[in-house]
Amino acid sequence: MPCWRILILTIGEVYRDAVFRFTSAGVDQPDVNARIIISECLRINYADFFLKKDSFLSLEERGNIESFVLRRIKREPLQYIIGEWPFLDLMLKVRPEALIPRSETEQWTDFLIGELKKYFPSGQFNFADIGTGTGAIGLSIAKKYPESRAFLVDVSMKALSLAKHNSQNNSVLHQNIAFVQSDLLSIFKDSSLDLIVSNPPYIPESDISGLMPEVRDFEPGLALSGGNTGFEIIFRLITQSERVLRAGGKFVIEHGWNQRNEIIRYCMSTFLPLYCGVDYENKDRFIILEKKPK
Ligand code: GLN
Repeated sequence: MPCWRILILTIGEVYRDAVFRFTSAGVDQPDVNARIIISECLRINYADFFLKKDSFLSLEERGNIESFVLRRIKREPLQYIIGEWPFLDLMLKVRPEALIPRSETEQWTDFLIGELKKYFPSGQFNFADIGTGTGAIGLSIAKKYPESRAFLVDVSMKALSLAKHNSQNNSVLHQNIAFVQSDLLSIFKDSSLDLIVSNPPYIPESDISGLMPEVRDFEPGLALSGGNTGFEIIFRLITQSERVLRAGGKFVIEHGWNQRNEIIRYCMSTFLPLYCGVDYENKDRFIILEKKPK
């Protein structure tokens, strides 16, 4: 720590210093980042942060804040530094072995939870969340539909143990939830599921190097790269879904803003598009498909 920084004593001063350094490092929303990091380290809420801005900090508190600030300057995502992040009404532990849940995913998951009432009025359905990561999508559905049978699937054991932790920590009916290690749907029997949901890796490999450092350098490549075309996992998942979904079953997938037409073209002989959805930026982001009868 440079010696002049030893003089920084109040919350307000530490805040201004962090905002300045985040701005120089190219961190998006430097003020929000600084406020969240300081509030988190001091375990104070938003209102207290502004009320207490003239309060003095102990050396230990300043040391803790400084270590978080230094990590953020290296562009580690705020969510990994804080270690947990909300998704709908869950509080999820987030770690580098799984993608940080995005607000666009939160938005379509919320929409889907409403639609499921129409598709499955009894609330009893078997579903799988493929590439579950933190468990965000699958646990949100399982929480709202306690009569459902959920399979949270990932190829990564580390991601599965994170999802399991999040299930227990959020008291989501774990007796109805199975955590399954599988390469997509390969472990499932024919016509055994009513619903498949997924936020699969869909970014073309050649685009990965141009992503923000937070994503490119810290989030798991396995959860981002959709191979050379960006469609490799999506198409494999669609092909496997044709076998594993029962006729009339639903398949819901997040995709890149320019991938929708290709997806519809790829599966039009076996799936009917029911709903095409956009994200907050009005970009094509997800699609709900229905498996046609044979
Ligand atoms: N939307 C995410 C991003 O831009 C990517 C998510 C994914 O590949 N499933 O970082």
